[in-house]
Amino acid sequence: MGKVTGFLEYDRQEQKYQLAGERVRHFREFTLPLDDNDLKKQAGRCMDCGIPFCHGPTGCPVNNQIPDWNDLVWQNDWEEAARNLHSTNNFPEFTGRICPAPCEEACTLNLENQPVAIKTIEQAIADKAWEMGWIKPEIVSFSTGKRVAVIGSGPAGLAAAQQLARAGHEVHVYEREAKPGGLLRYGIPDFKMEKYHIDRRVKQMEAEGVVFHCGVNVGVDKNFASLHNEYDAVLFAGGAEDPRNPNLPGQDLAGVHFAMPYLTQSNKRLGQEDVTGEPILAAGKHVVVIGGGDTASDCVGTAFRQGALSVTQLDIRPKPPEREDKLTVWPYWPTKMRTSSSQAEGAEREFQAATLGIEGKKGKVVGVQCARVDEKRQPIAGSEFILKADLVFLAIGFAGSVKEGLLDQSGVALDRRGNVVASDQDYKTTSEKVFVAGDMRRGQSLVVWAIREGRQAARAIDEYLTGSSNLPR
Ligand code: FAD
Repeated sequence: MGKVTGFLEYDRQEQKYQLAGERVRHFREFTLPLDDNDLKKQAGRCMDCGIPFCHGPTGCPVNNQIPDWNDLVWQNDWEEAARNLHSTNNFPEFTGRICPAPCEEACTLNLENQPVAIKTIEQAIADKAWEMGWIKPEIVSFSTGKRVAVIGSGPAGLAAAQQLARAGHEVHVYEREAKPGGLLRYGIPDFKMEKYHIDRRVKQMEAEGVVFHCGVNVGVDKNFASLHNEYDAVLFAGGAEDPRNPNLPGQDLAGVHFAMPYLTQSNKRLGQEDVTGEPILAAGKHVVVIGGGDTASDCVGTAFRQGALSVTQLDIRPKPPEREDKLTVWPYWPTKMRTSSSQAEGAEREFQAATLGIEGKKGKVVGVQCARVDEKRQPIAGSEFILKADLVFLAIGFAGSVKEGLLDQSGVALDRRGNVVASDQDYKTTSEKVFVAGDMRRGQSLVVWAIREGRQAARAIDEYLTGSSNLPR
């Protein structure tokens, strides 16, 4: 291990953020990277742990060999660090930007609340690899003669497609939207991850032989049975975008929307794509966001950048405790999640607040009726209050995958939560030669889990098609 006493000599340092007042004026990423010397010191803080929990099952879903690449960065061998990182993660520049970093939560130095800045280092390795031209298409010179269809091009579909192409299969990705990327492109705003990161990976994959068919909604534009006949295996990676519906009184008033149409419109506008339906814009409005997760905080950040007059976020959970370093722990899991910076941009936050209904005048929303809740999340009598609102976003989670079209036609079994049934060992659905990965199997989750499932499902498909697989687990 490089610097045995590094953790005693150097304090934790993460990349910094542009100030809130500056970053809300644009939609671009706003992190300010550390220089190589500081990054080296941060990597040098990694201890030679007997058991490195950071890359165990709870630390890193893709099993990144974190201590190894920290050591390589400490030794200034960035190219080998990039190679090592790519051996377990197809898209480290995605996770380096938007993963909540359970690895840092698991880091031994987190006992002192000073974990190694793993996420900052991961992003730096991936960015340097692109900058230096080390990331190239990995084109295989053999073909198995087998054809695989991947339905959906979010992180699960992309990771699976890349692995399958590298195993010599002919891979076709079907995507109902105009461009690949799934929630990375149409859900997550640019200020968390700009879209060029996806575009250059798609180019790399095309050079590796993956064929993208965008604008094709399988089950609507293309019949599932005919697609099933054309391929030797099919992977469902369609995500879990069916919104959980609170069915609030007054929810049908003008100005009340689910979060995803809002975020999708905003992303499409920025990507200069056609926006369909009534435009949803926060400029000059009092905005209330109902919900406390990633989707809600992305609505908050987007509304500020569009010029909202005020943004209030309602969370039924209690106010999180403050960390010793005074950074509010947010959200609750993983407890040191560092991805959501939108609240710091000026949002009012109401905790332990239930939404009772939406108030309107002449068919339009004017306010949100709320009440404080007790420990059992039941409204406390007499605690009711009203928040002024011209625009309300419902962001209280997702209830599995959309059933119409693909899932109905394929007849695959679903569990009680509306996810496609398959084990995390073989990723096989109840339909012959149909596999499933990512949110469609595990429910709305994280990008890092989608990448893991895509990689593992690719291996399972490779084994199914050829009897064995050299793809990593
Ligand atoms: P998705 O990314 O949902 O991709 C599924 C794709 O399949 C979509 O492109 C869809 O159009 C396509 N599709 C579906 N059905 C069909 C069909 N029949 N035919 C053709 N195409 C089809 N996770 C993090 O780790 N960090 C974050 O900061 C974070 N922020 C988030 C913010 C928001 C607003 C949301 C909603 C989620 C966020 N997540 C975050 C979660 C993360 O984005 C998802 O867990 C991840 O994208 C799931 O990947 P996936 O490939 O399974 O599905």
